Amino acid sequence: MKAVRIHQFGGPEVLIYEDVPDPQPRKDEVLVRVKACSLNHLDVWVRKGLPGVKLPHIPGSDMAGEIVEIGEYVTGLKTGQRVMVAPMHFCGHCAKCVAGLQNQCREFTVLGNAVDGGDCELFAAGAANIIPIPDSLDFNQAASVPLVFVTAWHMLVGLAGIRQGQTVLVLGGSSGVGIAAIQIAKLFHCRVITTAGNEEKLAKATALGADFGIDHYKQKISDEVRKITNKEGVDIVFEHVGAATWDESIKSLKTAGTLVTCGATTGPTVGIDLRHLFARQLRLLGSYMGTMGELYEVMAHVFAGRLKPVVDRTFPLSEIRAAHEYLERSQMFGKVIVNP
Ligand SMILES: [Zn+2]
Repeated sequence: MKAVRIHQFGGPEVLIYEDVPDPQPRKDEVLVRVKACSLNHLDVWVRKGLPGVKLPHIPGSDMAGEIVEIGEYVTGLKTGQRVMVAPMHFCGHCAKCVAGLQNQCREFTVLGNAVDGGDCELFAAGAANIIPIPDSLDFNQAASVPLVFVTAWHMLVGLAGIRQGQTVLVLGGSSGVGIAAIQIAKLFHCRVITTAGNEEKLAKATALGADFGIDHYKQKISDEVRKITNKEGVDIVFEHVGAATWDESIKSLKTAGTLVTCGATTGPTVGIDLRHLFARQLRLLGSYMGTMGELYEVMAHVFAGRLKPVVDRTFPLSEIRAAHEYLERSQMFGKVIVNP
């Protein structure tokens, strides 16, 4: 099959579109013909070099496609079925996995991170990872959803305990997780403030449901939040930007507010004033992906049309370098997809 592999870490030039042996599915796996795979910032981190990535390596986390072969031990699925692949790897039998807490499994990793991913024509997936998709979703839409929506759902619903009527600040509202978070917060009838880097992106975030937009290059986030909330601050800050926004995110919280974070796109090292942490009774929560149960929960809303996939642009898989360059320019609103 054709696949994209990296043989060394570096810039987009290390992404090689080449022939590799077809995967041989085990008896408990199915073989999926990949029709679409979406890009995440994780793809860029992996390409630049992360511990645990063994070379050569196939990146890509979010796949949708058709089942072409079914292992002897697999029941309930059929060839030709349209499916998406849950973008996570877990052992399936440890205490955490059987409790439904796959993202706490010691083997847990995202597909395309410590294990090979979906930037290829054929992928062998465990039956537990296969989720059939309705005809209302095309493959590009289906591939755009799982990683960012399960991440945002786990952060807001699983960890922060979002409740109706709260005020939520979503950093980076034009990113994949930001777009998911805005919609999930609106599903809970929350007031949503979001940030983006230009007016066009803010207009699109507003069209998705955000009530207020802040241009994070032109305006000071915490000042605008104070104005919007009548000096009170927000109940929940949805963070993934990291060093560039951390101080503003902390300042935007109300007393006893919750900051939940899943990323550090602009850098991992931040300061924290412990006096603010305890005196203002803040809750700081770290989040990584989500569980299979949460993925099913959030997908039910996607399948019903209450949460909408947002696809920005597609590239042929053979043009993976251009797709990475486009992602790194951060001009998109929504997900970038590659098609094998
Ligand atoms: Zn496990």
